[in-house]
Amino acid sequence: MKNVTTALVETARVYNADIVREKLKDMKINSRKSSRKLNYRLQTLPYRKIISNIDYKAYERGLNTIEDDTKRTSITCPSCRSVDKENMIDNKFKCKRCRFELNPHHVAYLNIFSRLN
Ligand SMILES: [Zn+2]
Repeated sequence: MKNVTTALVETARVYNADIVREKLKDMKINSRKSSRKLNYRLQTLPYRKIISNIDYKAYERGLNTIEDDTKRTSITCPSCRSVDKENMIDNKFKCKRCRFELNPHHVAYLNIFSRLN
């Protein structure tokens, strides 16, 4: 994990970029078998560890970290700005209005980027 966070922050440093992270409210482990206590630990611990790790390393290098509310990020068309749940079907992004298609991760990056600029 440390190597991944270092690589991420080092990449941001090279490009003098801010680091944007998602507010992950709905991170749930979908297993009825796991206990509430275990479920809670799985949900919160690793994520918080990663976040504080990144924040610290970014701070050391004089970089900003920004937390972004990703509501609608994955269902908004970066081309025509149409917001529709139907834009995202089976983990594929295709705009119902203008037919714009792209990898859903790239759609999210574009939407976050345009919101922050
Ligand atoms: Zn569109």
